[in-house]
Amino acid sequence: MTSKEEGSFAGEHDDLEPRRLEHPRLEQDDLDQDALRVISRLTRNGYEAYLVGGCVRDLLLGRKPKDFDVATAAHPRQVKRLFANGRIIGRRFRLVHVAYGSHIIETATFRRAPIAREADEDLLIVEDNEYGTAREDAQRRDFTINALFYDALNHRVIDYVGGLDDLEAAVLRTIGDPRVRMAEDPVRILRAVKFATRLGFRIDDQTWSAMCELSPDLARSAKPRVLEEILRLLRSGTSLGAFRMLRACGALRVILPQIDEYLGARNEPDPAAHDRADSFWRLLEALDSEVHAGHAPTPAVSIAVLCLRLIERDSAAKGREAGDLGESAADLLEPFALTMRLSRRDGGRAQRIIVQQRRFSQVASKRFSPLLFIRAEEFPEALHLFKLRSMAWGQGWDVYDAWVSRVEKAHQASPEELDAARRTTKKRRRRRRGGSTADRPEPVDASDGGPE
Ligand code: ATP
Ligand code: MG
Repeated sequence: MTSKEEGSFAGEHDDLEPRRLEHPRLEQDDLDQDALRVISRLTRNGYEAYLVGGCVRDLLLGRKPKDFDVATAAHPRQVKRLFANGRIIGRRFRLVHVAYGSHIIETATFRRAPIAREADEDLLIVEDNEYGTAREDAQRRDFTINALFYDALNHRVIDYVGGLDDLEAAVLRTIGDPRVRMAEDPVRILRAVKFATRLGFRIDDQTWSAMCELSPDLARSAKPRVLEEILRLLRSGTSLGAFRMLRACGALRVILPQIDEYLGARNEPDPAAHDRADSFWRLLEALDSEVHAGHAPTPAVSIAVLCLRLIERDSAAKGREAGDLGESAADLLEPFALTMRLSRRDGGRAQRIIVQQRRFSQVASKRFSPLLFIRAEEFPEALHLFKLRSMAWGQGWDVYDAWVSRVEKAHQASPEELDAARRTTKKRRRRRRGGSTADRPEPVDASDGGPE
């Protein structure tokens, strides 16, 4: 039987030998020396130990792995006993962090999936912490390409699930029945989008159908996990493709319903709706090119990019002055932050940098000191958002360039100049009553509109 067939029936053919491949593409130099130290000590002490997951996938694709994870037959306490620099962490899944200075090798014991329950029972996994064999550990993982082991001492890839064939064919496929695997953990839908867009892989047809069918189940997933995946997609450099895919499988409607609604019906005939959607996609395109240029967005910038168009539309619909987004930003972002379980800090920052956009076209006055604005904590994020808007809509580049040179000058400002700026705006502030709390520390001047 080929490994592909084995992959499709993972779990049912436990007597089969895995595919073991001597792999010339994995050069010893590409491997992490600390991970190799961990593997070799575990092996010398009689425990099976391999590199596993994302690092094996990435090495085989010629990409640089983010981190190197080790999977072993040794239980956490046995690992700990071998490494003075090891620390057991985690409550639900106990694993060992072996530290070499600040570099940590995550060393996890082989686990198996929870014991299969009655077919009609709820499949959502709630417990996932039973130890198992290497084969079981491969089978509980999400996609075939994520379940390869690399036996570094013998230079062999061990494949229990058909991951090598899928890597070769550039296909993303769940291990086992995709409907079962997506129902067990709907966040895998978002992970599928992430890997497919990041690696440029095609999603296998059955896996895609299961994603479409089970997208509504994302409503039951833990919100912080969903938020984390959304933020990852936004800084992936392929957010445009990822969000189009999320929309196509119906996941966007569940995880970000307001944005899905903003984008209108698919194949919308109304040109205005089409333009609206286009302005959103162009922001994501700008975000991606910034990531490729080495400027990944912070969570606040990511959230701001997601919500900016919604807020601008709301503000315009309520007849608020162009550029004055304070009220609409509060109306939309506060509930959004609550439902998405966004940290107070990131939610507040996203709101402030949106409101501050109008500052970029505001002239220096007694009410507004560009010097203090530049010195404000969120300024770099506000400027990043302004740049993304300029990139997306092709407007405001002259304004952006002017601010960049102002920033250079501001960093050379003397303490006296800063003091003078503070004194002037403080005087103004004392005279004001109320005002927007979202736009501190500067006072708001409603007479200036932002670049639209
Ligand atoms: P990245 O390069 O983004 O870190 P990765 O493959 O290392 O990709 P992680 O999220 O770091 O992904 O997870 C490590 C491994 O754990 C995965 O390769 C996969 O085998 C397994 N895994 C992670 N999340 C799940 C999940 N929800 N269900 C099943 N297996 C998972
Ligand atoms: Mg990883």
